[in-house]
Amino acid sequence: MTLRVGAVGLGLIGGSFALAMRRRGARVCGVSRSPQTTALAKKLGAIDDDRAESLRECDLIFIAVPVRAADSVFAQVSACVSPRTVVMDGGSVKAPLPDLARKNFGANAGRFVPCHPVAGAEKSGMAAARADLFEGREVVLCPAESDADAAETARDAWRRIGARVSDMDAEEHDRVFAMVSHLPHLLSYALVNQIDESPARVRELMLRHAAGGFRDFTRIAGSHPEMWRDICLDNRENLLSAIAGYRLALDKLESAARNGDGGALFEKFDAARTLRNKWAEKLKP
Ligand code: NAD
Repeated sequence: MTLRVGAVGLGLIGGSFALAMRRRGARVCGVSRSPQTTALAKKLGAIDDDRAESLRECDLIFIAVPVRAADSVFAQVSACVSPRTVVMDGGSVKAPLPDLARKNFGANAGRFVPCHPVAGAEKSGMAAARADLFEGREVVLCPAESDADAAETARDAWRRIGARVSDMDAEEHDRVFAMVSHLPHLLSYALVNQIDESPARVRELMLRHAAGGFRDFTRIAGSHPEMWRDICLDNRENLLSAIAGYRLALDKLESAARNGDGGALFEKFDAARTLRNKWAEKLKP
């Protein structure tokens, strides 16, 4: 039987999910706020149908909107959720979701499976969507409060489009991602802000001479500000802890530099290089 999939929010993540599912033979209903996005999704072959009422007939609904929009979008979708529907989201912060699911889906809250596809880019919008975005990438599920069969349907859906699936506790997820994703984005934005707020001539000089290291460090400062504002606010406590830890690490390097302590600088850089290289080695196919 043809799987009927709904995608709500047709940006990079929702649009890629729609493209990938449709390529695997699913019938996709895609719902977006803007008629331009809907038209583009149709043109790119991501969706069969754009009527919100068609979500009622879907076996699986994937919601991919900025994390602070989840509450209102869950409320809009709630009328389409029945005991036989499975609902997943793709947001980057997971701990607030069970409460939102209970509030909006009531007796059907167990049909909701929080998911975080650890795939993406600094690009956003339907135009950046790719059918192969999730292939070989990890998707973290936080199904502690989901029905077992709903979680299994969610796992099957992600595997169907080439992703690897693992489970995680939602609080732990948010602590880990504060450190390895949310903090790096904040730091990257801060560095670019620092340059932007320099006197005009100095700023132009710096940008003229900025090269590979600057490009690598600031790639993620090209990410969507609305999405990252929401993530920073929704995962605020964990992000504040990560910032505090980073400040301590920076203080150590600062005092080594101030004291002319080359040994301490070397030791820290060497330890960081060793760990970073070991991690990068594991990424190789
Ligand atoms: P995006 O900006 O490309 O798309 C977001 C979509 O949500 C847009 O189509 C927008 O119109 C729609 N939207 C925004 N506010 C809305 C509202 N109030 N009601 C209805 N629709 C609304 O963003 P994205 O990269 O696709 O991110 C979507 C979700 O996926 C976010 O929660 C983000 O945290 C998560 N995520 C993103 C990445 C990434 O690298 N981009 C990776 C993993 C998870």
